[in-house]
Order: sequence, then structure tokens, then C-alpha cells
Amino acid sequence: MSDFSLPRPGRCKWAEGDAGNYTFPCSNRVEAGVSYCADHSAIVYIPPEERRRNRSGGGMSLSFKRAA
Ligand SMILES: [Zn+2]
Repeated sequence: MSDFSLPRPGRCKWAEGDAGNYTFPCSNRVEAGVSYCADHSAIVYIPPEERRRNRSGGGMSLSFKRAA
């Protein structure tokens, strides 16, 4: 086992693999308190379906509609 199998402070915590067997292949630096780099946070927080719609504008109001 090596450090590669653990998320590191100050690094993107994007995980790949199955439960109990994760790896953290992304070593992009992130700010304190931030879990993912810009690329991966986009994947984590915005479903691909919505990402496509957001390109035509109105992203914020879309989020509110979903929450209602
Ligand atoms: Zn990343």
C-alpha cells in the first residue's frame, strides 16, 4: 500500500474504484476546505444533463426549480 490510496490534504479528493478499494488519481492542488479541483467539482456537483442546459443560460433559476 502507498499514499496513492489515500486522499491528501491540499489535493483533489476525486476517487475512483469500488467500495473499500478507492484510489485518488487526481493530484491537482485545491484550496483549503475544497474537496475537488475545478474539473472534478463540475462533475460532482452538476449532473451532465444540467450542465448541457446551463450552457444556454439561466443556471441559477434552474437549481431553484429543482429544489422546489
Ligand atoms: Zn481533480
